[in-house]
Amino acid sequence: MSATNVIAQQLGNGDLLRDKCFIGGKWRPSRSGKMFRVDNPATGDQVGEVPDCGPEDVQEAIEVAGRAFREWRERPATDRAEVLRTWARLMHECQGDLARLMTLEQGKPLQEAMGEVSYAAQFIEWFAEEGKRAYGDVIPAPVRGQHIVVLRQPIGVTAAITPWNFPAAMITRKAGAAIACGCPMIVKPAEATPLTALALARLGELAGLPEGVLSVVTALKPEPIGRALTDSPVVRALSFTGSTEVGRKLMAQCATHLAKVSLELGGNAPFIVFEDADLDAAVTGAMASKFRNTGQTCVCVNRFLVQEKVHDAFVEQLREAMAVLTVGNGLDEGVQQAALIDRNALMKVQAHVSDALAGGATVELGGKVHELGGTYFQPTLLTGVKPSMQCVREETFGPVSAVMKFATEAEAIRIANDSEYGLAAYFYSRDLHRVWRVAEQLETGIVGVNEGIISTPVAPFGGVKASGIGREGSRYGLDEYLELKYLCMGGAQGG
Ligand code: ADP
Repeated sequence: MSATNVIAQQLGNGDLLRDKCFIGGKWRPSRSGKMFRVDNPATGDQVGEVPDCGPEDVQEAIEVAGRAFREWRERPATDRAEVLRTWARLMHECQGDLARLMTLEQGKPLQEAMGEVSYAAQFIEWFAEEGKRAYGDVIPAPVRGQHIVVLRQPIGVTAAITPWNFPAAMITRKAGAAIACGCPMIVKPAEATPLTALALARLGELAGLPEGVLSVVTALKPEPIGRALTDSPVVRALSFTGSTEVGRKLMAQCATHLAKVSLELGGNAPFIVFEDADLDAAVTGAMASKFRNTGQTCVCVNRFLVQEKVHDAFVEQLREAMAVLTVGNGLDEGVQQAALIDRNALMKVQAHVSDALAGGATVELGGKVHELGGTYFQPTLLTGVKPSMQCVREETFGPVSAVMKFATEAEAIRIANDSEYGLAAYFYSRDLHRVWRVAEQLETGIVGVNEGIISTPVAPFGGVKASGIGREGSRYGLDEYLELKYLCMGGAQGG
Protein backbone atom coordinates (compact mmCIF):
# COMPACT_ATOMS: atom_id res chain seq x y z
CA MET A 1 0.00 0.00 0.00
CA SER A 2 1.37 3.45 -0.89
CA ALA A 3 2.18 6.01 1.80
CA THR A 4 -0.66 8.18 0.54
CA ASN A 5 -3.20 5.38 0.88
CA VAL A 6 -2.14 4.87 4.48
CA ILE A 7 -2.74 8.54 5.18
CA ALA A 8 -6.11 8.50 3.44
CA GLN A 9 -7.12 5.61 5.69
CA GLN A 10 -6.00 7.47 8.78
CA LEU A 11 -8.31 10.32 7.92
CA GLY A 12 -11.85 9.37 8.87
CA ASN A 13 -12.87 11.06 5.64
CA GLY A 14 -10.33 9.78 3.09
CA ASP A 15 -12.19 11.79 0.45
CA LEU A 16 -10.44 14.90 1.77
CA LEU A 17 -7.00 13.76 0.61
CA ARG A 18 -7.03 14.89 -3.02
CA ASP A 19 -4.48 14.23 -5.74
CA LYS A 20 -6.12 16.37 -8.44
CA CYS A 21 -6.57 20.09 -8.63
CA PHE A 22 -9.97 21.77 -8.71
CA ILE A 23 -10.42 23.91 -11.77
CA GLY A 24 -13.72 25.21 -13.01
CA GLY A 25 -15.68 22.73 -10.92
CA LYS A 26 -13.71 19.67 -12.14
CA TRP A 27 -11.12 17.56 -10.38
CA ARG A 28 -8.35 16.99 -12.87
CA PRO A 29 -4.61 16.57 -13.32
CA SER A 30 -2.43 19.38 -14.63
CA ARG A 31 -2.36 19.74 -18.44
CA SER A 32 1.29 18.72 -18.38
CA GLY A 33 0.48 15.64 -16.29
CA LYS A 34 3.25 16.58 -13.86
CA MET A 35 2.86 16.11 -10.12
CA PHE A 36 4.82 17.08 -7.02
CA ARG A 37 5.25 15.60 -3.57
CA VAL A 38 4.00 17.02 -0.32
CA ASP A 39 6.08 16.00 2.69
CA ASN A 40 5.56 16.03 6.44
CA PRO A 41 8.03 18.48 8.02
CA ALA A 42 8.04 16.45 11.25
CA THR A 43 9.30 13.26 9.63
CA GLY A 44 10.20 13.94 6.00
CA ASP A 45 7.66 11.28 4.94
CA GLN A 46 5.47 11.81 1.92
CA VAL A 47 1.94 12.88 2.77
CA GLY A 48 0.56 13.15 -0.74
CA GLU A 49 1.09 14.21 -4.30
CA VAL A 50 -0.68 16.97 -6.23
CA PRO A 51 -0.71 18.32 -9.80
CA ASP A 52 2.06 20.68 -10.82
CA CYS A 53 0.01 23.18 -12.81
CA GLY A 54 1.22 25.76 -15.28
CA PRO A 55 -0.13 28.89 -16.98
CA GLU A 56 -2.41 26.84 -19.27
CA ASP A 57 -4.25 25.48 -16.23
CA VAL A 58 -4.59 28.98 -14.79
CA GLN A 59 -5.98 30.21 -18.11
CA GLU A 60 -8.70 27.61 -17.94
CA ALA A 61 -9.56 28.55 -14.37
CA ILE A 62 -9.83 32.20 -15.40
CA GLU A 63 -12.14 31.43 -18.33
CA VAL A 64 -14.55 29.40 -16.22
CA ALA A 65 -14.42 32.00 -13.43
CA GLY A 66 -15.30 34.72 -15.94
CA ARG A 67 -18.43 32.81 -16.93
CA ALA A 68 -19.27 31.96 -13.32
CA PHE A 69 -19.08 35.63 -12.34
CA ARG A 70 -22.03 36.58 -14.54
CA GLU A 71 -24.34 34.20 -12.73
CA TRP A 72 -22.91 34.33 -9.20
CA ARG A 73 -23.04 38.12 -8.92
CA GLU A 74 -26.73 38.06 -9.80
CA ARG A 75 -27.62 35.70 -6.98
CA PRO A 76 -29.16 37.40 -3.97
CA ALA A 77 -26.61 37.73 -1.18
CA THR A 78 -28.86 35.58 0.99
CA ASP A 79 -28.46 32.67 -1.48
CA ARG A 80 -24.72 33.10 -1.55
CA ALA A 81 -24.74 33.17 2.25
CA GLU A 82 -26.62 29.88 2.36
CA VAL A 83 -23.91 28.11 0.33
CA LEU A 84 -21.16 29.71 2.42
CA ARG A 85 -22.80 28.70 5.68
CA THR A 86 -23.02 25.11 4.45
CA TRP A 87 -19.34 25.25 3.54
CA ALA A 88 -18.48 26.47 7.04
CA ARG A 89 -20.67 23.79 8.62
CA LEU A 90 -18.88 21.07 6.64
CA MET A 91 -15.57 22.48 7.81
CA HIS A 92 -16.72 22.23 11.42
CA GLU A 93 -17.99 18.69 10.83
CA CYS A 94 -14.66 17.64 9.31
CA GLN A 95 -12.59 19.63 11.81
CA GLY A 96 -10.67 16.59 13.08
CA ASP A 97 -9.73 15.31 9.63
CA LEU A 98 -8.86 18.72 8.25
CA ALA A 99 -6.70 19.43 11.29
CA ARG A 100 -4.89 16.12 10.96
CA LEU A 101 -4.21 16.74 7.30
CA MET A 102 -2.95 20.23 8.11
CA THR A 103 -0.59 18.95 10.82
CA LEU A 104 0.68 16.27 8.46
CA GLU A 105 1.67 18.72 5.74
CA GLN A 106 2.44 21.81 7.83
CA GLY A 107 3.68 20.40 11.13
CA LYS A 108 1.80 22.59 13.60
CA PRO A 109 0.57 20.99 16.85
CA LEU A 110 -2.77 19.27 16.32
CA GLN A 111 -4.51 21.45 18.88
CA GLU A 112 -3.44 24.52 16.92
CA ALA A 113 -4.57 22.92 13.66
CA MET A 114 -7.98 22.26 15.26
CA GLY A 115 -8.07 25.91 16.26
CA GLU A 116 -7.15 27.03 12.78
CA VAL A 117 -9.89 24.98 11.14
CA SER A 118 -12.44 26.57 13.42
CA TYR A 119 -10.93 30.03 12.82
CA ALA A 120 -10.98 29.40 9.05
CA ALA A 121 -14.66 28.40 9.15
CA GLN A 122 -15.44 31.53 11.17
CA PHE A 123 -14.24 33.71 8.29
CA ILE A 124 -16.69 31.98 5.96
CA GLU A 125 -19.51 32.42 8.49
CA TRP A 126 -18.62 36.04 9.08
CA PHE A 127 -18.57 36.94 5.41
CA ALA A 128 -21.71 34.92 4.67
CA GLU A 129 -23.47 37.44 6.90
CA GLU A 130 -21.41 40.49 6.00
CA GLY A 131 -22.04 39.92 2.28
CA LYS A 132 -25.68 40.76 2.95
CA ARG A 133 -24.60 44.16 4.18
CA ALA A 134 -22.69 45.44 1.17
CA TYR A 135 -24.72 48.60 1.51
CA GLY A 136 -24.47 51.53 -0.83
CA ASP A 137 -25.20 55.15 -0.04
CA VAL A 138 -27.47 58.02 -0.97
CA ILE A 139 -25.73 61.39 -1.05
CA PRO A 140 -27.67 64.67 -0.86
CA ALA A 141 -27.22 66.20 -4.32
CA PRO A 142 -25.96 69.75 -4.87
CA VAL A 143 -28.47 70.35 -7.69
CA ARG A 144 -32.22 70.59 -7.24
CA GLY A 145 -34.03 67.43 -8.27
CA GLN A 146 -30.82 65.47 -8.77
CA HIS A 147 -30.20 62.13 -7.02
CA ILE A 148 -26.81 60.72 -6.18
CA VAL A 149 -26.61 57.05 -5.34
CA VAL A 150 -23.53 54.95 -4.61
CA LEU A 151 -23.55 51.22 -5.35
CA ARG A 152 -20.99 48.72 -4.09
CA GLN A 153 -20.60 46.10 -6.78
CA PRO A 154 -18.45 42.95 -6.98
CA ILE A 155 -15.14 43.69 -8.67
CA GLY A 156 -15.02 40.59 -10.91
CA VAL A 157 -12.79 37.53 -11.04
CA THR A 158 -10.28 37.52 -8.19
CA ALA A 159 -7.17 35.57 -7.28
CA ALA A 160 -5.43 34.62 -4.05
CA ILE A 161 -1.87 33.50 -3.46
CA THR A 162 -1.50 32.10 0.04
CA PRO A 163 1.29 31.01 2.41
CA TRP A 164 2.00 27.76 4.23
CA ASN A 165 1.78 29.01 7.82
CA PHE A 166 -2.04 29.07 7.93
CA PRO A 167 -3.00 26.65 5.16
CA ALA A 168 -6.77 27.06 5.74
CA ALA A 169 -7.40 30.45 7.33
CA MET A 170 -5.40 32.46 4.81
CA ILE A 171 -7.61 31.00 2.10
CA THR A 172 -10.98 31.45 3.77
CA ARG A 173 -10.15 34.99 4.90
CA LYS A 174 -9.86 35.90 1.22
CA ALA A 175 -12.28 33.48 -0.45
CA GLY A 176 -15.02 34.08 2.13
CA ALA A 177 -15.02 37.80 1.43
CA ALA A 178 -14.71 37.51 -2.35
CA ILE A 179 -17.34 34.82 -2.80
CA ALA A 180 -19.78 36.45 -0.37
CA CYS A 181 -19.91 39.61 -2.41
CA GLY A 182 -20.25 37.82 -5.74
CA CYS A 183 -16.67 37.35 -6.98
CA PRO A 184 -15.22 34.01 -8.09
CA MET A 185 -11.74 33.30 -6.74
CA ILE A 186 -8.78 31.32 -8.06
CA VAL A 187 -6.51 30.18 -5.23
CA LYS A 188 -2.85 29.29 -5.61
CA PRO A 189 -1.86 27.72 -2.27
CA ALA A 190 1.74 27.46 -1.05
CA GLU A 191 3.64 24.53 -2.51
CA ALA A 192 4.29 23.17 1.00
CA THR A 193 0.60 23.00 1.95
CA PRO A 194 -1.65 22.36 -1.05
CA LEU A 195 -3.53 19.45 0.53
CA THR A 196 -5.51 21.52 3.03
CA ALA A 197 -6.46 23.90 0.21
CA LEU A 198 -7.76 21.04 -1.92
CA ALA A 199 -9.65 19.56 1.01
CA LEU A 200 -11.35 22.93 1.55
CA ALA A 201 -12.25 23.03 -2.14
CA ARG A 202 -13.81 19.57 -1.87
CA LEU A 203 -16.00 20.79 1.00
CA GLY A 204 -16.87 23.92 -0.98
CA GLU A 205 -17.94 21.74 -3.87
CA LEU A 206 -20.11 19.62 -1.56
CA ALA A 207 -21.59 22.79 -0.09
CA GLY A 208 -22.84 23.77 -3.54
CA LEU A 209 -20.39 26.39 -4.81
CA PRO A 210 -21.20 26.60 -8.53
CA GLU A 211 -18.62 25.64 -11.16
CA GLY A 212 -15.78 28.12 -11.37
CA VAL A 213 -16.69 30.14 -8.28
CA LEU A 214 -13.71 28.58 -6.51
CA SER A 215 -10.70 27.01 -8.21
CA VAL A 216 -7.56 25.72 -6.54
CA VAL A 217 -4.50 25.56 -8.77
CA THR A 218 -1.54 23.76 -7.18
CA ALA A 219 1.97 24.29 -8.49
CA LEU A 220 5.55 23.72 -7.46
CA LYS A 221 6.85 26.85 -9.18
CA PRO A 222 4.75 29.87 -8.18
CA GLU A 223 6.20 32.50 -10.49
CA PRO A 224 4.52 31.40 -13.78
CA ILE A 225 1.21 31.00 -11.95
CA GLY A 226 1.45 34.53 -10.56
CA ARG A 227 2.32 35.82 -14.04
CA ALA A 228 -0.63 34.05 -15.65
CA LEU A 229 -2.94 35.60 -13.08
CA THR A 230 -1.59 39.13 -13.39
CA ASP A 231 -1.23 38.97 -17.20
CA SER A 232 -4.96 38.41 -17.55
CA PRO A 233 -7.19 41.47 -17.89
CA VAL A 234 -10.04 39.35 -16.49
CA VAL A 235 -8.51 39.06 -13.00
CA ARG A 236 -9.54 42.32 -11.34
CA ALA A 237 -8.12 41.79 -7.84
CA LEU A 238 -5.25 39.85 -6.36
CA SER A 239 -4.93 39.16 -2.67
CA PHE A 240 -1.56 37.93 -1.49
CA THR A 241 -0.20 36.83 1.87
CA GLY A 242 3.51 36.13 2.04
CA SER A 243 6.88 37.83 1.99
CA THR A 244 7.37 41.52 1.32
CA GLU A 245 9.78 40.68 -1.49
CA VAL A 246 7.19 38.66 -3.44
CA GLY A 247 4.44 41.14 -2.55
CA ARG A 248 6.40 43.94 -4.19
CA LYS A 249 6.85 41.89 -7.36
CA LEU A 250 3.17 41.00 -7.55
CA MET A 251 2.14 44.59 -7.00
CA ALA A 252 4.34 45.64 -9.91
CA GLN A 253 2.83 42.88 -12.05
CA CYS A 254 -0.69 44.02 -11.14
CA ALA A 255 0.16 47.41 -12.62
CA THR A 256 -0.20 45.89 -16.11
CA HIS A 257 -3.98 45.75 -15.93
CA LEU A 258 -4.31 47.93 -12.83
CA ALA A 259 -5.77 45.05 -10.88
CA LYS A 260 -6.54 45.92 -7.28
CA VAL A 261 -4.02 44.44 -4.85
CA SER A 262 -4.28 43.47 -1.21
CA LEU A 263 -1.04 42.51 0.44
CA GLU A 264 -0.47 40.95 3.86
CA LEU A 265 3.29 40.86 4.11
CA GLY A 266 6.05 40.39 6.65
CA GLY A 267 5.98 41.76 10.16
CA ASN A 268 8.48 42.54 12.89
CA ALA A 269 6.27 42.77 15.94
CA PRO A 270 7.63 44.55 19.02
CA PHE A 271 6.30 43.47 22.43
CA ILE A 272 6.84 46.22 24.97
CA VAL A 273 6.67 45.56 28.70
CA PHE A 274 6.44 48.78 30.72
CA GLU A 275 7.37 48.87 34.38
CA ASP A 276 3.71 49.30 35.37
CA ALA A 277 2.67 46.12 33.52
CA ASP A 278 1.04 43.09 35.08
CA LEU A 279 4.03 40.78 34.54
CA ASP A 280 2.06 37.54 34.82
CA ALA A 281 -0.32 38.73 32.12
CA ALA A 282 2.62 39.91 30.00
CA VAL A 283 4.31 36.52 30.15
CA THR A 284 1.05 34.75 29.27
CA GLY A 285 0.54 37.10 26.31
CA ALA A 286 4.16 36.74 25.26
CA MET A 287 4.00 32.95 25.21
CA ALA A 288 0.75 32.96 23.25
CA SER A 289 2.05 35.37 20.65
CA LYS A 290 5.63 34.13 20.38
CA PHE A 291 5.05 30.38 20.25
CA ARG A 292 1.91 30.19 18.15
CA ASN A 293 2.70 28.01 15.15
CA THR A 294 6.26 27.54 16.49
CA GLY A 295 6.94 31.23 15.99
CA GLN A 296 5.93 31.08 12.34
CA THR A 297 3.24 33.75 12.06
CA CYS A 298 3.63 37.27 10.75
CA VAL A 299 2.17 38.64 14.02
CA CYS A 300 4.43 36.59 16.32
CA VAL A 301 6.55 38.72 18.65
CA ASN A 302 9.91 39.31 16.99
CA ARG A 303 11.46 41.72 19.51
CA PHE A 304 10.85 42.06 23.24
CA LEU A 305 11.44 45.54 24.66
CA VAL A 306 11.43 45.47 28.46
CA GLN A 307 11.77 48.47 30.76
CA GLU A 308 14.88 48.37 32.98
CA LYS A 309 13.10 48.06 36.33
CA VAL A 310 11.17 44.91 35.38
CA HIS A 311 13.65 43.45 32.88
CA ASP A 312 15.17 40.75 35.08
CA ALA A 313 11.87 39.67 36.59
CA PHE A 314 10.19 39.43 33.18
CA VAL A 315 13.11 37.50 31.67
CA GLU A 316 13.08 35.03 34.53
CA GLN A 317 9.34 34.42 34.27
CA LEU A 318 9.54 34.07 30.50
CA ARG A 319 12.46 31.64 30.82
CA GLU A 320 10.49 29.50 33.26
CA ALA A 321 7.50 29.40 30.93
CA MET A 322 9.63 28.57 27.89
CA ALA A 323 11.64 25.87 29.69
CA VAL A 324 8.55 23.67 30.10
CA LEU A 325 7.36 23.83 26.49
CA THR A 326 6.82 20.36 25.05
CA VAL A 327 8.60 20.03 21.72
CA GLY A 328 7.73 17.22 19.32
CA ASN A 329 5.74 15.87 16.40
CA GLY A 330 2.59 17.98 16.07
CA LEU A 331 0.43 14.85 16.01
CA ASP A 332 1.58 13.79 19.48
CA GLU A 333 -0.56 14.61 22.49
CA GLY A 334 0.45 17.70 24.44
CA VAL A 335 3.02 19.03 21.94
CA GLN A 336 3.26 22.84 22.04
CA GLN A 337 6.17 23.48 19.71
CA ALA A 338 6.69 21.53 16.51
CA ALA A 339 9.17 21.20 13.66
CA LEU A 340 9.89 24.25 11.52
CA ILE A 341 8.49 24.11 8.01
CA ASP A 342 11.78 23.28 6.25
CA ARG A 343 15.59 23.41 6.29
CA ASN A 344 15.69 27.02 5.08
CA ALA A 345 13.56 28.06 8.02
CA LEU A 346 15.90 26.24 10.39
CA MET A 347 18.96 27.83 8.81
CA LYS A 348 17.48 31.30 9.18
CA VAL A 349 16.80 30.74 12.89
CA GLN A 350 20.34 29.40 13.37
CA ALA A 351 21.82 32.37 11.52
CA HIS A 352 19.89 34.87 13.65
CA VAL A 353 21.03 33.20 16.87
CA SER A 354 24.68 33.04 15.72
CA ASP A 355 24.59 36.68 14.66
CA ALA A 356 23.17 37.72 18.05
CA LEU A 357 25.78 35.73 19.95
CA ALA A 358 28.58 37.15 17.82
CA GLY A 359 27.26 40.62 18.67
CA GLY A 360 27.37 39.96 22.42
CA ALA A 361 23.86 38.66 23.25
CA THR A 362 23.47 36.10 26.06
CA VAL A 363 21.66 32.76 25.75
CA GLU A 364 19.32 32.36 28.72
CA LEU A 365 17.75 29.18 27.32
CA GLY A 366 18.22 26.90 24.31
CA GLY A 367 20.14 28.32 21.37
CA LYS A 368 20.67 25.12 19.40
CA VAL A 369 19.04 22.62 17.08
CA HIS A 370 16.79 20.41 19.22
CA GLU A 371 17.93 16.90 20.07
CA LEU A 372 15.00 15.59 17.99
CA GLY A 373 17.03 16.67 14.94
CA GLY A 374 15.32 17.42 11.62
CA THR A 375 14.01 20.98 11.64
CA TYR A 376 13.29 21.12 15.38
CA PHE A 377 14.90 24.05 17.22
CA GLN A 378 15.11 24.55 20.97
CA PRO A 379 12.91 27.20 22.55
CA THR A 380 15.50 29.97 22.77
CA LEU A 381 15.73 33.05 24.96
CA LEU A 382 18.32 35.72 24.21
CA THR A 383 19.01 38.85 26.26
CA GLY A 384 21.27 41.81 25.61
CA VAL A 385 20.03 41.99 22.05
CA LYS A 386 20.83 45.16 20.07
CA PRO A 387 18.80 47.04 17.45
CA SER A 388 21.38 46.32 14.74
CA MET A 389 21.14 42.53 15.08
CA GLN A 390 19.47 40.35 12.43
CA CYS A 391 16.99 38.97 14.97
CA VAL A 392 15.76 42.55 15.51
CA ARG A 393 15.90 43.81 11.93
CA GLU A 394 14.36 40.76 10.23
CA GLU A 395 11.54 38.38 11.00
CA THR A 396 13.12 35.29 12.63
CA PHE A 397 10.00 33.13 12.12
CA GLY A 398 11.00 30.64 14.77
CA PRO A 399 10.99 29.89 18.51
CA VAL A 400 13.45 32.62 19.52
CA SER A 401 12.64 35.30 22.08
CA ALA A 402 15.06 38.21 21.63
CA VAL A 403 14.98 40.65 24.55
CA MET A 404 16.37 44.18 24.81
CA LYS A 405 16.18 46.73 27.61
CA PHE A 406 14.89 50.30 27.42
CA ALA A 407 14.79 53.21 29.85
CA THR A 408 11.96 55.56 28.81
CA GLU A 409 8.62 55.40 27.03
CA ALA A 410 9.92 57.63 24.24
CA GLU A 411 12.86 55.29 23.70
CA ALA A 412 10.56 52.26 23.54
CA ILE A 413 8.38 53.91 20.90
CA ARG A 414 11.40 55.00 18.88
CA ILE A 415 12.85 51.46 18.87
CA ALA A 416 9.46 49.88 18.15
CA ASN A 417 8.90 52.15 15.14
CA ASP A 418 12.44 51.73 13.85
CA SER A 419 11.49 49.07 11.32
CA GLU A 420 10.41 49.04 7.71
CA TYR A 421 7.53 46.77 8.82
CA GLY A 422 4.33 47.76 10.55
CA LEU A 423 1.97 44.85 11.04
CA ALA A 424 1.36 44.13 14.73
CA ALA A 425 2.72 45.57 17.99
CA TYR A 426 1.95 44.60 21.56
CA PHE A 427 2.44 46.38 24.84
CA TYR A 428 1.61 45.86 28.48
CA SER A 429 0.82 48.74 30.81
CA ARG A 430 -1.81 49.53 33.45
CA ASP A 431 -1.62 53.27 33.01
CA LEU A 432 -4.61 54.47 31.02
CA HIS A 433 -2.90 57.60 29.74
CA ARG A 434 0.13 55.66 28.63
CA VAL A 435 -2.08 53.10 26.90
CA TRP A 436 -3.63 55.77 24.68
CA ARG A 437 -0.36 57.61 24.09
CA VAL A 438 1.57 54.52 23.06
CA ALA A 439 -1.25 52.93 21.06
CA GLU A 440 -1.60 56.08 18.99
CA GLN A 441 2.11 56.41 18.30
CA LEU A 442 2.93 52.86 17.25
CA GLU A 443 3.28 52.66 13.45
CA THR A 444 1.43 49.39 12.92
CA GLY A 445 -1.96 48.27 11.61
CA ILE A 446 -2.70 46.23 14.73
CA VAL A 447 -1.94 46.91 18.39
CA GLY A 448 -2.44 44.36 21.16
CA VAL A 449 -2.87 46.25 24.44
CA ASN A 450 -2.45 43.86 27.36
CA GLU A 451 -3.31 41.10 24.88
CA GLY A 452 -1.12 38.64 22.95
CA ILE A 453 -3.66 37.09 20.56
CA ILE A 454 -5.20 39.64 18.25
CA SER A 455 -6.46 37.56 15.29
CA THR A 456 -10.23 37.36 14.91
CA PRO A 457 -12.55 37.43 11.88
CA VAL A 458 -14.44 40.42 13.29
CA ALA A 459 -11.52 42.89 13.28
CA PRO A 460 -9.53 44.37 10.37
CA PHE A 461 -6.22 42.57 9.95
CA GLY A 462 -3.45 44.25 7.98
CA GLY A 463 -0.34 46.34 8.13
CA VAL A 464 1.24 49.64 7.21
CA LYS A 465 4.62 50.46 5.65
CA ALA A 466 6.29 47.34 4.17
CA SER A 467 3.75 45.09 5.89
CA GLY A 468 1.14 45.61 3.25
CA ILE A 469 -1.91 47.23 1.79
CA GLY A 470 -5.56 46.57 2.54
CA ARG A 471 -7.39 44.84 5.36
CA GLU A 472 -8.85 41.38 5.75
CA GLY A 473 -11.68 40.19 7.98
CA SER A 474 -14.31 42.45 9.54
CA ARG A 475 -16.70 44.66 7.59
CA TYR A 476 -13.71 46.37 6.00
CA GLY A 477 -12.57 43.07 4.46
CA LEU A 478 -15.35 43.19 1.87
CA ASP A 479 -13.99 46.43 0.41
CA GLU A 480 -11.09 44.60 -1.25
CA TYR A 481 -13.60 42.87 -3.55
CA LEU A 482 -16.07 45.67 -4.19
CA GLU A 483 -16.00 48.63 -6.53
CA LEU A 484 -17.90 51.83 -5.91
CA LYS A 485 -20.18 53.03 -8.64
CA TYR A 486 -21.87 56.38 -8.36
CA LEU A 487 -25.09 57.07 -10.20
CA CYS A 488 -25.93 60.67 -10.91
CA MET A 489 -29.59 60.98 -11.80
CA GLY A 490 -30.43 64.25 -13.47
CA GLY A 491 -32.91 66.60 -11.87
CA ALA A 492 -36.44 65.79 -13.00
CA GLN A 493 -38.24 68.70 -14.59
CA GLY A 494 -41.79 69.41 -13.53
CA GLY A 495 -43.82 66.48 -12.23
P1 ADP B 1 7.26 32.46 2.45
O1 ADP B 1 8.57 33.10 2.72
O2 ADP B 1 6.27 32.55 3.54
O3 ADP B 1 7.33 31.12 1.82
P2 ADP B 1 6.59 33.58 -0.10
O4 ADP B 1 6.28 35.00 -0.33
O5 ADP B 1 7.81 33.01 -0.75
O6 ADP B 1 6.62 33.46 1.47
O7 ADP B 1 5.39 32.65 -0.47
C1 ADP B 1 4.03 32.97 -0.23
C2 ADP B 1 3.21 32.49 -1.41
O8 ADP B 1 3.66 33.19 -2.57
C3 ADP B 1 3.35 31.01 -1.73
O9 ADP B 1 2.10 30.54 -2.22
C4 ADP B 1 4.37 31.01 -2.85
O10 ADP B 1 4.25 29.89 -3.69
C5 ADP B 1 4.00 32.27 -3.59
N1 ADP B 1 5.08 32.87 -4.39
C6 ADP B 1 6.40 32.90 -4.14
N2 ADP B 1 7.05 33.56 -5.12
C7 ADP B 1 6.11 33.96 -6.02
C8 ADP B 1 6.13 34.70 -7.26
N3 ADP B 1 7.27 35.16 -7.77
N4 ADP B 1 4.96 34.91 -7.89
C9 ADP B 1 3.80 34.47 -7.38
N5 ADP B 1 3.72 33.78 -6.24
C10 ADP B 1 4.84 33.54 -5.55
